[in-house]
Amino acid sequence: MRPKPHIVDLPVYQPGKPIEEVKRELGLDEVIKLASNENPYGSSSSVAEAIQAELSQLSLYPDGSSAELTTVLAEHLGVERNQIIFGCGSDEVIALITRAFILPQDESIMADQTFSVYKSNVDIEGGVSIEVPLKDGVHDLDAMLAAVTDNTKIIWICNPNNPTGTIVEHDNLISFLNQVPAHVLVVLDEAYCEFVTDENYSDGISLLNQYPNLVVLRTFSKIYGLASLRIGYAVANAQSITYINQVREPFNTSRIAQAAAKAALTDYDFVESCRTKNQQGIEYLYGQFDELGLEYYPANGNFIFVNIKSSGLDMFQSLLKQGIIIRAGFGKYPNYIRVSVGTPEQNEKFITALKHALAQ
Ligand SMILES: *Cc1c(COP(=O)(O)O)cnc(C)c1O
Repeated sequence: MRPKPHIVDLPVYQPGKPIEEVKRELGLDEVIKLASNENPYGSSSSVAEAIQAELSQLSLYPDGSSAELTTVLAEHLGVERNQIIFGCGSDEVIALITRAFILPQDESIMADQTFSVYKSNVDIEGGVSIEVPLKDGVHDLDAMLAAVTDNTKIIWICNPNNPTGTIVEHDNLISFLNQVPAHVLVVLDEAYCEFVTDENYSDGISLLNQYPNLVVLRTFSKIYGLASLRIGYAVANAQSITYINQVREPFNTSRIAQAAAKAALTDYDFVESCRTKNQQGIEYLYGQFDELGLEYYPANGNFIFVNIKSSGLDMFQSLLKQGIIIRAGFGKYPNYIRVSVGTPEQNEKFITALKHALAQ
């Protein structure tokens, strides 16, 4: 066999353990997963109805162009229909972008601690990832600009950043976009934008008319609570969307995902209530961390990145034994853990377990 040389040593993504498996292994009745930033309140009740209506159509291929969903989303966002493309999660959209833009040896710039899917897809295409250190947990836009060369194809800005939770502020983003050369695509990943309450945050969609090299990523996996259905999207200049569409498989999103997304999008009350409850959860966790003397970055998504002042991986193990799954093992931040904001009850159980672990 002669696989592409640059994929030979790539790691296989290691997913977290499923809740059921952890329960069985540890003999626990209850396991709380605060590891993947999933919505603890599920999804809109209108989603179940929409899915029910699709059950008689399972033998039919979906509409490959997602026409109905595109129309509803274009209206919702105030963009043209030809500015939108859907993927099997925004993960797939990231893969499509690299497939369309990155040739071997092309450079791509990203933060040194951010969503891992950017780098893994650049690696798959044989591109070179330039990882620029975060500054106080925030994207260092000046350093990222300074890293641009003639070979740069894409800059990835995760806003809010996963895992730190920080945002790039409006004025800094604008000044950055004004300086990025036109040959460089800027991908602004806004997977958590619906949770943001900071007024210094800017909605990337409103900048698209001004910056033809900007691509905004969004997803139905987080606030809309549809992670299992795998549907996300990009919004950009129509020409960029055409290029990404040219490398897309014909039926990359399912009938059920399209119907569910359409129903979820217009349940504004559900989204609003999740945002409010998430904010309350953040306030509660901030208060508890303050009492424990633990520092954290400002949380703008539905997760908090907190410094536990000892090994994050050890903390992962000791919380796991108590039936709580979080994320740790962040290369640049070995003493940090990332915890998703759960329901009030889940948050309290997490804090109890954390206190117990810290006291050991
Ligand atoms: C969760 C997440 C996504 C969304 O992934 P999907 O493939 O749409 O489920 C994208 N970007 C970031 C930063 C995320 O945390």
